[in-house]
Amino acid sequence: MITNINNPNLNIAEEIRVRGIVQGVGFRPTVYRLAKLCSLRGEVWNDGEGVLIRIVGTAEAVETFIDKLQKECPPLAKIEAIARSPLSHPPTYTDFTITQSISNQIKTSITPDAATCPECKAEIFDPFSRWYRYPFTNCTHCGPRLSIVRAIPYDRRNTSMANFTMCSDCAKEYADVTNRRFHAQPVACHICGPKAWLKRADGKPIVSDMFSMLDDVDAVCTLLQRGEIVAIKGIGGIHLACDATNKMAVQKLRERKHRYHKPFALMAKNLEIIEKYCFINELEKELLQSAAAPIVLLQLKDKTEETTKPIAASVAPNIKSLGFMLPYTPLHHLILRRMERPIVLTSGNISDEPQCINNEVAKDKLSQIADYFLLHNREIINRVDDSVVKVVGNRLQVLRRARGYAPAPIRLPSGFEEAPPILAMGSELKNTFCLLREGEAILSQHLGDLENAAALTAYRETLELYLHLFEHKPEAIALDLHPEYLSTKLGKELGVDRIYSIQHHHAHIAACMAENGINLENKPILGIALDGLGYGEDGTLWGGEFLLADYRSYQRLANFKPVAMLGGEQAIYQPWRNTYAHLMAGFNWDELAVKYRELEIVKFLDRQPRSLLNQMLAKRINSPLASSAGRLFDAVAAALGICRDSASYEGQGAIELEALVDNIDEETAYPFEIISAPIFYLEPRPMWQALLTDLQTGVSQNAIATRFHLGLAKAIASMVVRLRETHSFTQVALTGGVFQNQVLLEQVSKQLNVMSLTVLTHSLVPANDGGLSLGQVAIAAAKSIQKGIK
Ligand SMILES: [Zn+2]
Ligand SMILES: [Zn+2]
Repeated sequence: MITNINNPNLNIAEEIRVRGIVQGVGFRPTVYRLAKLCSLRGEVWNDGEGVLIRIVGTAEAVETFIDKLQKECPPLAKIEAIARSPLSHPPTYTDFTITQSISNQIKTSITPDAATCPECKAEIFDPFSRWYRYPFTNCTHCGPRLSIVRAIPYDRRNTSMANFTMCSDCAKEYADVTNRRFHAQPVACHICGPKAWLKRADGKPIVSDMFSMLDDVDAVCTLLQRGEIVAIKGIGGIHLACDATNKMAVQKLRERKHRYHKPFALMAKNLEIIEKYCFINELEKELLQSAAAPIVLLQLKDKTEETTKPIAASVAPNIKSLGFMLPYTPLHHLILRRMERPIVLTSGNISDEPQCINNEVAKDKLSQIADYFLLHNREIINRVDDSVVKVVGNRLQVLRRARGYAPAPIRLPSGFEEAPPILAMGSELKNTFCLLREGEAILSQHLGDLENAAALTAYRETLELYLHLFEHKPEAIALDLHPEYLSTKLGKELGVDRIYSIQHHHAHIAACMAENGINLENKPILGIALDGLGYGEDGTLWGGEFLLADYRSYQRLANFKPVAMLGGEQAIYQPWRNTYAHLMAGFNWDELAVKYRELEIVKFLDRQPRSLLNQMLAKRINSPLASSAGRLFDAVAAALGICRDSASYEGQGAIELEALVDNIDEETAYPFEIISAPIFYLEPRPMWQALLTDLQTGVSQNAIATRFHLGLAKAIASMVVRLRETHSFTQVALTGGVFQNQVLLEQVSKQLNVMSLTVLTHSLVPANDGGLSLGQVAIAAAKSIQKGIK
């Protein structure tokens, strides 16, 4: 280390190794600038491990340099470690230089797309800047990355910027080490870069009566203000936009898109506009303004000021939150410049298909939805959806991990570096896949539901691209146990010999352990995995599981009561089927029908073809048993009349039920029973009894929803108490899509904390199936590393 600390004026020489996200983010220019500032001589270059710096100068200058490097780290860079060692025979340096990197040594790293930085934003609004009103400007601190790359190394020629030859001004800045645009691959300007244009969906020419408009981009604002729907090509996909305060426009968009209930995301010019409608805390502010610029779910204010035009109710029906984002490209900033209201900005697709990314495909598929198209000629190579996050208990919780987050690696706890390269294929719904290399997990962006043919194609293409971009040759494959998952089938076709089939809920728990830094050899923890469905090791459907688990194995200690899914998958989209199955599992229908004959839900169920349904139940025809927490929520929601006939997206009933929760500290909890055989399970019969009685006495929906949430949380905690009598564990992981329910998560956490248990929850990856591939990778890695041998 520093040998001359007592003599700060004496020259020393050091080699400094910097690890982390330090390549392709303007790190070397920062090193250069700081080295010059501190009067140091030496050199810097990229190599396989990150950045290597050699410096010669006074001990004092070296200390100042290290200090500044940490403090003035460029915005997209992340220093994980700095290792310093004395350099005994330094070359004779006369200056400080950036040395050519040896490209075959460089560990490929592709960074996430980043929102426009403040400097670039200032330039597009500065009439004296050469980027004034230019929709595609960027620098090393911002701009597209993953969305434009098709091959490695990450050079301009391997991106969709290859077609644009830099003008002399841009080329000069690209080559200037002191410039913010030094080696920013997508650098561009009006003269040399991509261009945007406006078109009518019906192909007719645009009659320019829009006198206030400056150009095609600005005209979009006028169109939105007039109630038109505009398809806008962004960074990772094409969106559909309309004025969020215009009821007619939002309704028109819902009808044309055939999307009737799922909430729409919103974008507003600035925080002040968002604050008119929603509460925003400090962390939420930070997230909205971060380089990732995700959609942040924010709590709706009960009242808005009279002068504020309300957001159309159909933007997010029956939900008490709104998903907002801030402009994250110059194009968005320019469109919203004159817009004082929020706009809807939802993915440009038909129902469940992936978002359109291609101009021609968009014109083909979206011309029945959009009135106008704002397109551009920078190709989107990788579809990257907007990420969705929320803040729970002052902690980030990612619900959909895509733009701005993927493909930044997640470092696994120590021990995992020993594992060979592994590919995990993920789930069926909300799919992501995951590559493991040298202890780092690289999760793909959210790829959607593979049941959709177009999504499956996108999955294959994205997988191929990632394997290429990260030079990943899997030696083992991790799959879900479900034989019918398309990801499972595809994984088996890849021709890799070593295959690990992994139980769905074990993977959820391992994902939660991995992102919380639980060590490879940690003793088993209790994992509570609550979701819609996953394939169990006994061939039945699971979804309300208490597993004692480490990375390598698990033991099923308890579960929710298995109840038939009446009609199989139909039960997901017709929630009343679950209510009927639950009531039939706990009661005698004839007695129930007499006792509660006045209840609407009883009348409703009585009108169904019950003898057929009963036969299905008795003979198990298309009615598999499922210990699903998700279906229990559906059943309760439908009993209250929420999404009774149909749910248009999975979990709609649960989300709307949660939105009804009110006065939680003053309510009582519905009772559940714990039955101990064959293994422990939660019996909901007493809960149903209480709920039906409440319905009969006219208790409000709010109170019933609250009592149910409280009851379930209490039942889960009681189950943990019982399990603790026979098993020793100190940590509990809460995972699975049902734990996106904030009320349940907070209530269960609170009760477990009281028992002095450490509660692990998700933050970086979703609790839902979007995080599954991380758990699969961790389990396969642990199994591939022989226990105890290091
Ligand atoms: Zn910038
Ligand atoms: Zn240029």
